[in-house]
Amino acid sequence: MNQLKRLKIIIQGAVQGVGFRPFIYRLATELNVKGWVNNSASGVFIEVEGTEIILETFLSRIPQEKPPIAQINTLETTWLDPVNYTCFEIRHSSSGEKTAIVLPDLSTCSDCLQEIFDPNNRRYLYPFTNCTNCGPRYSIIEELPYDRSHTAMKTFTMCKWCQKEYDNPLDRRFHAQPNACPICGPRVQLWDKKGEILANQKNAIYFSIDALKKGEILALKGLGGFQLIVDAKNTESVTKLRQRKHRPHKPFALMYASLEAIKNDCEVNDLEEQLLISPQAPIVLLKSQNKHHLIPEIAPNNPYLGVMLPSTPLHHLLLHTLDFPIVATSGNLAGEPICIDEKEALNRLANIADLFLVHNRPILRPVDDSVVRVMGGREIIIRRARGYAPFPISINDSSLTNILAVGGHLKNTVAILKKNQVFISQHIGDLSTVEALKSFNQVMESLNKLYEFEPEIIVCDAHPDYVSSQYAKAQNLPIITVQHHYAHVLSCLANNNLNPPVLGVAWDGTGYGDDQTIWGGEFLLVKDNTPSLMKGFYERIAYFRTFKLPGGEKAVKDPRRIAISILSEVLGDNDWIKLPFLETMTTKELNLLKQMLSRNLNTPSTSSVGRLFDGVAAMIGICQNISFEGQGAMALEYAINEFKTEQTYPYKIKGSTYPLIIDWQLIIEHIVEDIIKKISHQEIAAKFHNTLVEIIVNIAQKSHEKNILLTGGCFQNKYLTERAIFRLKQEKFIPFLHHNVPPNDGGIALGQIMAAILQKQ
Ligand SMILES: [Zn+2]
Ligand SMILES: [Zn+2]
Ligand SMILES: [Zn+2]
Repeated sequence: MNQLKRLKIIIQGAVQGVGFRPFIYRLATELNVKGWVNNSASGVFIEVEGTEIILETFLSRIPQEKPPIAQINTLETTWLDPVNYTCFEIRHSSSGEKTAIVLPDLSTCSDCLQEIFDPNNRRYLYPFTNCTNCGPRYSIIEELPYDRSHTAMKTFTMCKWCQKEYDNPLDRRFHAQPNACPICGPRVQLWDKKGEILANQKNAIYFSIDALKKGEILALKGLGGFQLIVDAKNTESVTKLRQRKHRPHKPFALMYASLEAIKNDCEVNDLEEQLLISPQAPIVLLKSQNKHHLIPEIAPNNPYLGVMLPSTPLHHLLLHTLDFPIVATSGNLAGEPICIDEKEALNRLANIADLFLVHNRPILRPVDDSVVRVMGGREIIIRRARGYAPFPISINDSSLTNILAVGGHLKNTVAILKKNQVFISQHIGDLSTVEALKSFNQVMESLNKLYEFEPEIIVCDAHPDYVSSQYAKAQNLPIITVQHHYAHVLSCLANNNLNPPVLGVAWDGTGYGDDQTIWGGEFLLVKDNTPSLMKGFYERIAYFRTFKLPGGEKAVKDPRRIAISILSEVLGDNDWIKLPFLETMTTKELNLLKQMLSRNLNTPSTSSVGRLFDGVAAMIGICQNISFEGQGAMALEYAINEFKTEQTYPYKIKGSTYPLIIDWQLIIEHIVEDIIKKISHQEIAAKFHNTLVEIIVNIAQKSHEKNILLTGGCFQNKYLTERAIFRLKQEKFIPFLHHNVPPNDGGIALGQIMAAILQKQ
């Protein structure tokens, strides 16, 4: 029993940059075992010598006492003969195959926070304070293994005090790669629009606070990119920011100094509170309180606010003395990706910002703020970036590896499969601008470099015109194209670790269909892995009756066109002509539209539920012009405003064999009657949502499948989603939602990877 043994341990998971090696060192010292620990690109390696009993204790205490943010995925052990180590040491990193997990950037921990507000601490008011429990990771890493020489901190040589912390295994900053202090670390500067220095260090922060108090717009170089910041209580400044950013309606996110301040303006439940104060510190969508003290320009016609707490010391320092929350929105023009470089910012944000608060720690990749919404009692990530990316999604065993998926077009993300881990990139954005395309290419390059990844198969959307699809085709690799809504369903499948068979309800704004029309109101039955179904691995068992989009893209921007298209199809020419929403349109415009429709001029057909939402929102007069995707659906959701009804509109399901057609004619006829009867928007909106839910239940029953997956942009709608869950459960189905991968097109890349796996199995 007292014989010496040697135990070799290999641990994989989120174990680098989280204080894991010092933890092992402390444990080894405490138990008096000898050996070593090191980081390699594929995980943490440990060898320890001692008696069997002590080594068993050592092993069992690892998962029990690991650092809070570490996550162990696998732990392998091998018993060996002793080699008589004389001490326990932390060895230098070795290289190896690069599958180690890169941690996301984490918000400032309470220990660091205490230090920056302690006048006696050497890091008093220092905006780059961090430790192994917090601070930047993904936004500063160049390559694995995660060592200082591979990060944006490589040019900052540590002073002797920082070095001492870094070398001491018992210190919270032992091997904290971004470790820094006012003497040796990055510094802030305040610039004017020309890039002239106005102030340095603490003065730069004081001057910035003064500027915010005066209502000026500050471009702030944050953690993963520039943010535009302004006093959220100053109507004039917020309006100015909207005008300069060309962003008329889309809600702005807010940052508050404290949870208490948030609770003054918003309703916060327990889960929402946990999310706000979590190391991920995302933007959480919260219901604003009736008595809230904010101006309507923050989120026009929107009862929800996107709210976050400060996530870096710099944000804490700015907010600390302000007695108002700030708007903190991405530093870009509408539709473009977030800006990360200060020289570039001067150029791109010159017409938006008055002042630039910058620093000299390079941002190696853009990482936006993440957005989450609590629905059905759990959090759903709407935008997956800071705090979450690039944490991988583990999937059931796959015989394939080295697959690259390039995602969709809107809210683009890309993903790579390595072994059975899918690494999904941070949110890139809409690939419509040159800037976005540049960012898409950079993200791809950086993923390849970080994980030494060489794609063997490439997967893209079936839409031939998406720039992501064109990129895929240009790579000269075996290519798999995947139907958009099938990718949505598989994304939800992977996110819930499910296997077929399932019924996927994929509702969104737009996606290229197998029949070359625009889909978006789809029920896809995914059976097993045999391609026995109509079109590969899924069967489109039902969809919404199609309608025309007069002017294509123009109808997406002006949903009154959709309303007119639907109304003239259902009611011919007359009954609806006096509806109030038409007062905003000239007779000439109306006649032109009617002509387009009757002659089928540039009027693509769609089965999209997202567009149906837009059309109904326009019809009842709550949405005239759209400046961002999903605005119509949002307006209709918010129109309900807590109205309670169990009523629905009648509808028909046509056909006796698949695919069934969901005919919305009766829904529209009854909505028009309700508008004429002056029934409230609240009631109409609630009845419309309830009807859609009953359609889901109805098709679920016809499909004979138990597992119902709700996916696509429409399931960011809380009322729709929660009622669908409730009704499906009532009817003994098992509903599944997305969780840590967005239901919108940000989740497409994961679905594409799954499609490739299913196809190749
Ligand atoms: Zn810390
Ligand atoms: Zn230092
Ligand atoms: Zn989609």
